[in-house]
This record gives sequence, structure tokens and C-alpha cells, in this order.
Amino acid sequence: MLNYYDAHLARHGDTASGAAWPDEAGRRARFRMGIDLVLQHAGQRRVTLCDLGCGTGELYRFLQEEGFDDVGYIGIDRSSLAIGIARAKFPDVAFHCLDLLDADGKTLDRLLDCDFVFANGLFTVRHEATHEQMWAFMTRMLEATWPRVRRGIVFNVMSTLVDWERDDLFHVSYDDLARYLRGLAGRAIGFRADRDLYELMAFALKDDLPPPGRRPIAAGREADAVPVCRPRLPRVKDLTPFLERMDDARRYTNHGTLSAQFTRGLAQAFGVREEEVCLASSGTSALIAAILATAGRATSERPWALCPAYTFAATALAAEACGYQPRLIDVDSNGWMPTPEFAARQPLERVGLALATAAYGQSVPQQAWSEFSRDSGIPVVIDAAAAFEQACDHPDDTFGTVPVVLSMHATKAFGIGEGGAVLCTDRGVIERTYGALNFGFLGARECRMPGINGKLSEYHAAVGLAQLARWPSQRHALSQVAQAYQKHARSHGLAGRIVTAPRVASCYALFVARDATEAAAATAALAAARVGFRRWYGVGLHNEPHFVSAPRGLLANTERIATCLIGLPMAPDLHDTEIARVVAALAEAAIPHAQAGITQAGRGVTP
Ligand SMILES: *Cc1c(COP(=O)(O)O)cnc(C)c1O
Repeated sequence: MLNYYDAHLARHGDTASGAAWPDEAGRRARFRMGIDLVLQHAGQRRVTLCDLGCGTGELYRFLQEEGFDDVGYIGIDRSSLAIGIARAKFPDVAFHCLDLLDADGKTLDRLLDCDFVFANGLFTVRHEATHEQMWAFMTRMLEATWPRVRRGIVFNVMSTLVDWERDDLFHVSYDDLARYLRGLAGRAIGFRADRDLYELMAFALKDDLPPPGRRPIAAGREADAVPVCRPRLPRVKDLTPFLERMDDARRYTNHGTLSAQFTRGLAQAFGVREEEVCLASSGTSALIAAILATAGRATSERPWALCPAYTFAATALAAEACGYQPRLIDVDSNGWMPTPEFAARQPLERVGLALATAAYGQSVPQQAWSEFSRDSGIPVVIDAAAAFEQACDHPDDTFGTVPVVLSMHATKAFGIGEGGAVLCTDRGVIERTYGALNFGFLGARECRMPGINGKLSEYHAAVGLAQLARWPSQRHALSQVAQAYQKHARSHGLAGRIVTAPRVASCYALFVARDATEAAAATAALAAARVGFRRWYGVGLHNEPHFVSAPRGLLANTERIATCLIGLPMAPDLHDTEIARVVAALAEAAIPHAQAGITQAGRGVTP
């Protein structure tokens, strides 16, 4: 078995296939189901989990990425190859290379000092072992762990309720397993097989447990935790005057008076004509409409959309919704966005659309992309979802013939719950955007182009108007928090390592780790300090299960940036002591005085 797994790891590297899983999505589905069971039955906030057969420690990564800060982690595996990789990735985590069946009682007591053992995939493959040998292996392992864990064990085997049983897998019937677990653990046993997997997730619990379900997976955080995001939108009472006008007008959507007024208010805030702004029900519907208004749906001659690999999933999903096949390209190491120079070097014959970004609401590269579009003839849409402040402060750089998309999602600096906008100086584009957001109707009630229903309702326009009224104070509060971050960063020797407004939108504070090691140390320190964090753009689109097979170029910058950029808590009322706690945790983890390679402003370097 050891040889079997080591051969997979050697052949496929540190991937799902390298751990003998069919794919990453399946592996994560099992992680989620196992952790779900553990937390459901933990009956307490903090849980220590022993990952038996941990391989290269990807469950630990999953816990970090998914924000399970309350789960302590110990990894055990027989393979020194896998443990070596795990330790290199997560130097602060306890990984032990050990054969459980060969260890003495004292060692087992020490290493299995945990609430739960989770053995994911340890008993699913039997390779060349017989069923009997595999059964003996499984039961001996469970009998070594069961007396030592405080609360329970969770593990999976293949099911016998399948169309066919594979010769190399370990299929066990419910009855056999239930009878065995009943003998081992008593009555508190159970199975889950409600995901579309050909296996059973079995669990056994110690008797003195509280009833299940006391701690749902999305339980509220403890009072002293600092959440990564705590938006503050207008109060309900501030909406009332606007909503009453809606009551009187009896118009609830379809470009009513509130959304007309909100459009004018936004145009005024940006200092442009109202014909240059079109509201939408979300940033994503605004993206789709802007694509339909410029490039139209994908054609068989030009089915591809260039899309940065480092962005929020919505960018690529919008292109896909318009029929395009996203082709992921790398981003610039300084600006964290794709550059027109790099896009121009791609094979463009089959490209029908290029998506650009203004990552984290940085300045919008309008001019560069309108030149690219003019020279190449390829329509461009800029996903500048968070760039509301750029549009206010630098309208001349933001507005142009290339449509720019904003989001007014609750998490953005200017949030209204759900909402979006397309900004463009080309009236024809704005008219077609209106059409695309309203069933393809252009003026008349007649469908003339592809479209969706993506209009902003009058309810959301009411929030928008109330938010416009309080925007100066909201912005001031956010920028005070940004300044406090910078003050604490300087006093902890982290000057330049935390990026805030005005470089990025004021809803973001980003720690720039120097490398993967420092990033892992930083997230571990944040978790230990009960500070929330989030990789806002995930770990690169190519690592999202849906996009794993999307065509792509080399993504070296994306890989590095996605690992190193860590979103820190942000809120208009984030208290100075909370900010101090966040920065102190980072200072503990940071390599002192390191000059991170991706902090400098400017976009001189192309990938
Ligand atoms: C927020 C965001 C979106 C999505 O906007 P919604 O309003 O939530 O649809 C798209 N792209 C980026 C880069 C974002 O940050």
C-alpha cells in the first residue's frame, strides 16, 4: 500500500491524483463531509482532529481556506515522502511519520491525544491486498485509535450498493460495518452516503456525547473573534422615506423613479453624464450585459475569452454565461491584473472577448485596454467590481469606450446589498447594456438581442439612495481604519506589507506574504488569534473545481499572488484594539523587514 501511494505521489505530484483521488472536487467533497460530521458531533467549539493517513496535509489547507479556525490539527502518515512535502508546506503544523500498527502504547497515547480521528481514504483502496487482509488492516487501525480518542472516529470505505465493485477498491456492506462498529463502539454509530459518492462515511461516537447537532457548521463566532468582513449598510429607518415614495408611485422595478434618481446620483458622484451609467441587479449581471452589449455571444469562429486566472470566479462565469470558453492568462506581478501587452502576445485568432480587471478596486486601466481593443479589434470589458472610489476620484482614467463594471455587493465599500453598474462613454454600449439587462428589449417591447433579467429593483435603488447620502461618512470611517492599519504596520516593522486604501478599495486590507511559508505562518497565527481572513479571489481560477480543465498559459504570478495575498478584517467600525490584534498576529509570523516582491506600486513588469 505504501508503495502504491508513493508511486501515485511521485507520478502526479502533490495533487488529488497524487493522493489517488479521481479529482480535487471529489477530495474536497469528502473533506467537507468528514469535517461536517466532526463538528456536528463535537459538542464544543474547539476540536482537535487527527488526520490519519494525512498524505501531504491537504486537509489542513482545506481547514485554513474554509476558515475552520476552531479545528486543531495533527497529521499522521506512514509515507516519509508525503510527510516531507506536508512539513515543507506547513512548517508550523504537527506532522508525524509513523506506522500506527508498529508503534508502542505510549507513542499512540501521545499522538492520538485528540477529540476525533478522521481517516479519509485510508480504507478505500485495497490495491493488491485481499478483502480479508484489508478488513484486518482496517479493524486493527480502528482498534488502535478508538480507545485513545476523546470523542469519536470518522472514516470512509467503498459501498457495496454500486453498479459494480472494483477489484482494487475495498467495498464493505452496511451490515458488516454496522455490526463491527456496534461491537467496537456501542450504539452511537452512523453512516452518511447522501453525496453522490460510491462510498460510505462511517462514524462512531463515545457514549457521553451531547446530542448531535449542537454545533452546526456555520455557528456564530465567539464574541471575541474578529470577523474578516462586517459590512454596514444604511439602517432600515433611513430607507423608509425612499420606500414610501415607491409605495406612492406603485412602481417596484423596470427603471422606476428611484433607480432613475440613483443613476443621476451616481453620475453626479462620478462627475459624468447620466447616459454613461447603467444600473444592474448585481456586478455579475452587469458583467454579462456589458459582454453582450460589446462582444455579443460567442461565435464558432471566436469562441474564446481571455480571462485573468487571478480574479473572482464571477469574471470567468460571466464570459461562460455568454457562451465563451475562458482561456486563463497570468496576471502582472505588481498590479495583480492582466496587461494588454501580455494579452497581445497570445494567439488571438479565435478570441472574441478579452476580460480585464482592476484587482481589488485599484486604478482602472481604461486607456491601455481601449488601445488594445482598437488595435486588435477584440471587444474588452473591465471587471472593476470594487473600483467605486476610483470612479469617484479619477473619472477621467476610469470612463472610456471600454465598459467598466462595478459591483455594489454588501461586501464592497459602496454596498447596497446586491447591485451593479456599467460605466461607459459610448452611448450605444449603454443602450445595448440596458437591452441586455431587460430581456433584449431595445426601446420597444420586442426581443432584439440576447439578454437576461438583470435590472436593479426599486427596493435596491432605495438602499442605493440612502447609501449615497451617507457615503462621505462611510468612506471616512473606512479610510480611518485603513490609516490605523498603516500605523500599526509601521510600529510592528511591517511597513509596506499591508496594502490598504487608497491603493486598493477601502473595503480591503491585504497582507502581502513574502512566500508560501510566510503565508502559511501568517494564516496559522491569525487563526490562533481568532482573527478571520479570506483569500478574496481564492487560489486562482484554475484551482476552482469548475475551471480545473480550462485552457491556460503559465500561471506563475497567479500561483504566487494567490498564495501570498491574504485578506484581513475590514469594517467601518473595526476598533483600534482589533486592528492591533490582527497586526500583532501577523508580526509574530512575518519574516522581519522582508521586502515582499509584489508590494511595489506600478505595473512595469509583464509576466
Ligand atoms: C464582487 C466581485 C464580483 C461580483 O459582483 P456581484 O455584485 O457579487 O455579482 C465580480 N468580480 C469581482 C472582481 C468582484 O470583486
